[in-house]
Amino acid sequence: MAVIDGKKIAAEIRTELKAEVEELTGEGRAPGLSVIMVGQDSASRTYVNMKKKVAKNLGIKSDVYVMEEDIPEAELFDLIDNLNNDKTVDGILVQLPLPDHINPDQVIETVEPDKDVDGFHPLNSGRLFNGQKEGLRFEPCTPLGIMELIERHTEIDGARAVVVGRSNIVGKPVFKLLLDQNATVTICHSHTKDLEAETLKGDILVVAAGYPRLVNGDMVKEGATVIDVGVNRVNGELVGDVDFESAKKKAAYITPVPGGVGPMTITMLMKNTIKARRYHGA
Ligand code: NAD
Repeated sequence: MAVIDGKKIAAEIRTELKAEVEELTGEGRAPGLSVIMVGQDSASRTYVNMKKKVAKNLGIKSDVYVMEEDIPEAELFDLIDNLNNDKTVDGILVQLPLPDHINPDQVIETVEPDKDVDGFHPLNSGRLFNGQKEGLRFEPCTPLGIMELIERHTEIDGARAVVVGRSNIVGKPVFKLLLDQNATVTICHSHTKDLEAETLKGDILVVAAGYPRLVNGDMVKEGATVIDVGVNRVNGELVGDVDFESAKKKAAYITPVPGGVGPMTITMLMKNTIKARRYHGA
């Protein structure tokens, strides 16, 4: 068994991205990323600060807009509109979750698709699901990071892959990205009757359920590559959706939590921002 070191792989990719940012900056303009946060949710604040820090380290120009929890929806849309029209901004990210009075779908659709570095806009998800290869297409960051980790450790073509979770942010796009690389993919969810019977079939097993230690070693196929996307806080400790100690006895490769998928997600956000800058030009 080998532990997949997401931190190390993310650092390697960031070194390459930094060189790209330098090149683009030399051509006249650094990539620009704007992050909007509504309210003071502490997990969101941590994620936003991490994104800002990584962007800064790479030389990406980043602005963070923190808005009051009770801000009227219209004010948020005005800000997004301004950023849509700002030529120095390549990527716009609205940190989720949003307060209840704000409709997240409407917010996602307000961001210009060519600045949607989160890959959540229906045009981008539509392009992903239609398999459109021409033109600009952003894919969501966590799924992109997951694919990088899998590709570096196992052959996807022809493998049997099992994804636990069907969210728009993780499960569904991972399903499509694996399918595009010719895996035979099963997607499981909260109504799946016999989860263990399904997960045991996976040469590749991606778990994104948001349920601490949902998958244990008995549910992992011998020699599988296991990607644990879950981030759960249990008694102050961060734990994944996979019981690492029992699963590592069966897996050939497995990601830890923390230090697996998390660092890759932020790295892919930077990669998408650079992609957007290339598309927009200097
Ligand atoms: P979500 O709540 O939107 O979706 C969870 C999915 O899991 C649902 O489709 C549900 O049907 C399925 N599910 C729940 N319980 C299940 C069960 N008992 N058996 C089978 N399926 C079950 O969550 P999400 O946004 O996809 O996130 C999933 C997890 O990944 C969370 O812990 C989240 O914090 C984490 N996450 C991590 C990163 C990262 O960068 N590391 C990014 C996004 C999400």
